[in-house]
Amino acid sequence: MKAHDGMYIDGAWRPAAGQDVIEVVNPADEQVIGTVPAGTAADVDTAVRAARAALPGWAATPPAERAARLTALRDVLDARRDEIAETVTAELGAPLKFSQAVHAAVPIAVAGSYAELAGTYAFEERVGNSTVYQEPIGVVGAITPWNYPLHQIVAKAAPALAAGCTIVLKPAENTPLVAQLFAEAVHEAGLPAGVFNLVTGLGPVAGQALAEHPGVDLVSFTGSTAVGRHIASIAGAAVKKVALELGGKSANVVLPDADLAKAVNVGVANVMSNSGQTCSAWTRMLVHRDQYDEAVELAAQAAAKYGERIGPVVSARQQERVLGYIGKGVAEGARLVAGSTEPPRETGYFVSPTVFADVTPDMTIAQEEIFGPVLSVLRYEDEEDALRIANGTVYGLAGAVWAGDEARAVAFARRMDTGQVDINGGRFNPLAPFGGYKQSGVGRELGAHGLAEYLQTKSLQF
Ligand code: NAD
Repeated sequence: MKAHDGMYIDGAWRPAAGQDVIEVVNPADEQVIGTVPAGTAADVDTAVRAARAALPGWAATPPAERAARLTALRDVLDARRDEIAETVTAELGAPLKFSQAVHAAVPIAVAGSYAELAGTYAFEERVGNSTVYQEPIGVVGAITPWNYPLHQIVAKAAPALAAGCTIVLKPAENTPLVAQLFAEAVHEAGLPAGVFNLVTGLGPVAGQALAEHPGVDLVSFTGSTAVGRHIASIAGAAVKKVALELGGKSANVVLPDADLAKAVNVGVANVMSNSGQTCSAWTRMLVHRDQYDEAVELAAQAAAKYGERIGPVVSARQQERVLGYIGKGVAEGARLVAGSTEPPRETGYFVSPTVFADVTPDMTIAQEEIFGPVLSVLRYEDEEDALRIANGTVYGLAGAVWAGDEARAVAFARRMDTGQVDINGGRFNPLAPFGGYKQSGVGRELGAHGLAEYLQTKSLQF
């Protein structure tokens, strides 16, 4: 795999301050596919200075011109979509078809949505005798995870650029190659030097330095709740704005009048997709007690069908973590109806598609985010019970409701403490705001709400 041995700062690839490197491993075969520099506080400082220097010019660039640059960026990503898919498959282990359909296609759609929004968003409005301006918040420090590596980058970089902000990105250490590809695309699209900068490196070193840097005005973080809490405390001490997209334990609520087979099959697919490494995955399926046994059987069959078709999880550490949770599920008395506590292959960080029945709401596997291909099926007595279970975790990122009567599903969804709900399956909408209630985060990504995160408001009175 192609890998740069420098950092993309101020419009060029520059040598890193230190000598250390990070090895990038293909989780499907455990082979090292490349190395990238492990950035330090010195690299972060150089990048933040470049972003600060570029800020006045980019902030003053008319929105239509920013929209034109974003369109160019979208077009470069589109032209390189095969390379994006191959890169994500190599560093994340996702099957190539899935990388093409999701890891490449979704960020291209999101970049396109911001190319449009940049040109149409109301950055200025009249309110009574005032003019209200939406101005860029400044330099953005973006810290992203590996699970949808390019999407997570574009979901921050595209709205930040549309808003007129400049950026320093610290991508996940497991998936830095697609981040480098994105930096190349930014360059090819003709964005001015310093508007987008990339520092690869470890979280506690480069990520920490970025979150702490006084030249950063907003820290936008996606990742675990533990690290999010830490970043929020750093930002809070500096009175710096923070946006957090964190974990989830989303409920898939199958109401009694739903198409059970469809709800279960789509529900299982949702959890197994990307080997379960999706923060919004519907990892808790809630089924009425009268339909419970049938649903469990359908779910076990659906999971068995996935067999060898899903990719590995991202790392040995993640594999160990997921298998640990499966072991805990068994130890706490849940019934394993598909999958195993053992890895299915000797090489590669694979985990079998796993389904647990007889899961009660207080069990660890029903409360904690596993981030692997593991579904828990829970039983409910009536709608009020289903709602209590659905809302009974510290998270509130996503969810699903299935019902024969759509109005009934909507009424239920409105009572869920969660940021996004799919009704009878739903369909991805790049303009729909995405983000968490409760400990799933602060702020929203995607669409106009995602753009607003990167703006601050000024009013002039006449
Ligand atoms: P993580 O929190 O370990 O890492 C995320 C990013 O933070 C990485 O770039 C990492 O290098 C960096 N980081 C780690 N320690 C840091 C520190 N001390 N200071 C600054 N940066 C630091 O998470 P992960 O293991 O990469 O990702 C999995 C988690 O991310 C899951 O919990 C998942 O739910 C969550 N996630 C949430 C969303 C969402 O949109 N809500 C999306 C994807 C993943």
